[in-house]
Amino acid sequence: METIQNFINGHVSMSKSERFSPVFNPASGEQTRQVVLSNESDTVAAIVAAESAFPGWSKTSPLKRARIMFAFKALLESNKDKLARIISNEHGKVYSDAMGEITRGLEVVEYACGIPHLQKGEHSANVGSGVDSHSLMQPLGVCVGITPFNFPAMVPMWMFPIALATGNTFILKPSEKDPSLALQLADMLKKAGLPDGVFNVVNGDKQVVDILLSDPRVQAVSFVGSTPIAEYIYNTASSYGKRCQALGGAKNHCLLMPDADIDMAANAIIGAAYGSAGERCMALSVVVAVGDQAADELIGNLKAQIKKMTIGPGIVEGPENDMGPVVTAEHKAKICSFIDIGEKQGAELLVDGRQLIVEGNEKGYFIGPTLFDHVLPEMTIYKEEIFGPVLAVLRVPNYKTGLELINSCEYGNGTAIFTRDGETAREFSESVLAGMVGVNVPIPVPMAFHSFGGWKRSIFGPLNVHGSDGVRFYTKMKTVTTRWPASIRLEDHTNTFTMPTM
Ligand code: NAD
Repeated sequence: METIQNFINGHVSMSKSERFSPVFNPASGEQTRQVVLSNESDTVAAIVAAESAFPGWSKTSPLKRARIMFAFKALLESNKDKLARIISNEHGKVYSDAMGEITRGLEVVEYACGIPHLQKGEHSANVGSGVDSHSLMQPLGVCVGITPFNFPAMVPMWMFPIALATGNTFILKPSEKDPSLALQLADMLKKAGLPDGVFNVVNGDKQVVDILLSDPRVQAVSFVGSTPIAEYIYNTASSYGKRCQALGGAKNHCLLMPDADIDMAANAIIGAAYGSAGERCMALSVVVAVGDQAADELIGNLKAQIKKMTIGPGIVEGPENDMGPVVTAEHKAKICSFIDIGEKQGAELLVDGRQLIVEGNEKGYFIGPTLFDHVLPEMTIYKEEIFGPVLAVLRVPNYKTGLELINSCEYGNGTAIFTRDGETAREFSESVLAGMVGVNVPIPVPMAFHSFGGWKRSIFGPLNVHGSDGVRFYTKMKTVTTRWPASIRLEDHTNTFTMPTM
């Protein structure tokens, strides 16, 4: 069985660890590989490599760093098909969705190609008499990225393109559930001309993470994953004096107003709830419908569309499925137990995905799209992040109650409103407590040149990922104030001892 190793100092590095974690193809349910769970010496080797590469890389001109990003972008484009297949085979998402994830990561690489401009700093002439002031945006040193299973390409690329382009070195700790892609990215960065040691991959679990969080040579930590781990990472990294951004879980609501275009809303909601089997941090898992009429119409439309959905492997000959499997057998069992609890607590289960069997893939981790109506705020399926293809509909009497419900949720990642009324949409955008808001847009993921991040317990730390926040996160500002005495140019140095006279 193939073992996925590490990438340290420009080469695949064989670990001596005897701990491994199985990697599955979720569509077939078969173990295809194993990944090494690295030990302390692997982790320290990566830190040493990244620290040694920092002086040279940080002094490399931004233009040269940008050219490596351009070359990396070209390699990503020419290898897209291969990368999407790797993602689909380990994560389970359908091929076109895997291609979409690579594109969203690639857009951050494109943004990082503009680093000579983005890292210019500011300059003010004559801040005092004969005094000028300018700022330098200097790299931090060794930066770390710890990433979740659900976007093995995009989430690492939210981080390292900007970290590297600004002159930092980087250690990526990918999810142990779908680790293969990280080594492909490392190989392509090397082919693009990145010097050895600038980008490293260490596979593993909490043991690796804890060493990275406490080692004084690591300057900054970017994390994306579930809220309890995000909070732990933020608190621990901060206690060691490191800069940290930790993005956590979500429970994204949309508010369906009675005046909404219900067909348009249903088309948007179906993809946002069930795309990628609901394993997206921006998945829409809750519809808050204002009034019974809007709720009934939406549910009728959703049920008809669910009937037509095809569920199966992410890669198939012929027409693509709408939805693939979830990532592991444990995750499937967890999602099914949430559905059990929802039923027990009295929510109305309109469509039940638990019994789905995909012919030819009987051992795959498939769950059909699941729809609950009459969900109440005190129910477990409302309160907890399920991270699967389960959509809950809650009914409220008016806009105000809907907004209050959304604002009292512990998470505040993304949200959306469906309405034809501009004033309501504007009021919602201003008042809702969430980091990313869509108006008739179900998954309002900001583009690479904006910044991505939620509010409340969906993020820990002040700076979001990519866009201008990304550049700020990976640089520290230094402000230089300069005065040059005029004596050399103006004075006659042959006569320095005589009294100056006009
Ligand atoms: P996870 O928190 O289980 O794992 C994320 C990373 O943390 C992995 O690399 C894992 O190895 C590591 N990790 C796990 N337990 C750890 C521990 N005890 N100590 C140290 N490190 C640990 O998350 P996941 O299941 O891989 O991903 C799904 C979660 O990620 C969902 O909650 C989802 O909402 C969230 N997510 C959030 C965003 C966002 O932008 N806010 C984006 C993608 C995913």
